[in-house]
Amino acid sequence: MRQWRWQRSGYDERVHAFAADERPASFVEAVCSHTVPFARLARTHAGTRCLKCLLIVGDDLVARVAPPTPS
Ligand SMILES: [Zn+2]
Repeated sequence: MRQWRWQRSGYDERVHAFAADERPASFVEAVCSHTVPFARLARTHAGTRCLKCLLIVGDDLVARVAPPTPS
């Protein structure tokens, strides 16, 4: 099961979803493939969320709550 961490990027001032188990690196990549230097990440989820990240994480949550039934 994937865990997400919402953090604000200093590049576009939007809050993106990052995989919580991602190893610390000089650059980190959000689920929408926005990349940002680790040093430019704000440890806050206050702000405007990235729509692409919301949709991707939303789809993941739906699949978790209601797994597709085999036909
Ligand atoms: Zn994003």
